[in-house]
Amino acid sequence: MWKGFLAGLVVANGFEWVAHKYILHGTHRAGKPRYSPVPDSMKSHWEHHREVRKTDFHDQGYVEGISNWRTKNEIISLAVVAGVFGTAFYPVSKGMSLAVLYCAGNYYYIHRRAHLEPEWAMKRIPWHYDHHMNSNQDANWCVTKPWFDYILGTRVISAPELQEANPLGIALPQVLSDSLNWAVSRIRPAKWVEKKAERLENAAA
Ligand SMILES: [Zn+2]
Ligand SMILES: [Zn+2]
Ligand SMILES: [Zn+2]
Repeated sequence: MWKGFLAGLVVANGFEWVAHKYILHGTHRAGKPRYSPVPDSMKSHWEHHREVRKTDFHDQGYVEGISNWRTKNEIISLAVVAGVFGTAFYPVSKGMSLAVLYCAGNYYYIHRRAHLEPEWAMKRIPWHYDHHMNSNQDANWCVTKPWFDYILGTRVISAPELQEANPLGIALPQVLSDSLNWAVSRIRPAKWVEKKAERLENAAA
């Protein structure tokens, strides 16, 4: 049960990365609109990005709740994903199935709270703050935990105060957190916005 549940958490985090990048942002096509297998969700998500950039990370859609079409779209999409994957995993592992349900609910809780309380978001999910407010919105795909952004090299940090305590994004004893940071920085270091700019300046000089 527990192993299945943990495996389910990892799978769900991978799904966050893939769905956010390929369904919600869509794939760029030369001379044509972006491609998404679920165009309505993509439209809703780009509206979310525009709103968040205009209003310092707030999204009024979450204040309005279900009467807002974007909020409704997010809830229905999460219910569909949870239903499909929860059912598909059930014969394989009940733990995994349970994790899928938990993750769908948790995603909504975290994302909603983040855009209702930006200061909370900066502390608790700084990777998502970076996703919206960075010059590069084509990175930081994970929402609830940054795991797959570290695994796939897409965690791009804009400022030291927006760096999570460790790549698990979980409060850990300092010693554990430090050794995890040390290990991950050797295999999968996070990228930095400013450092990239500095490198370009150095190259130009
Ligand atoms: Zn996005
Ligand atoms: Zn392009
Ligand atoms: Zn968001």
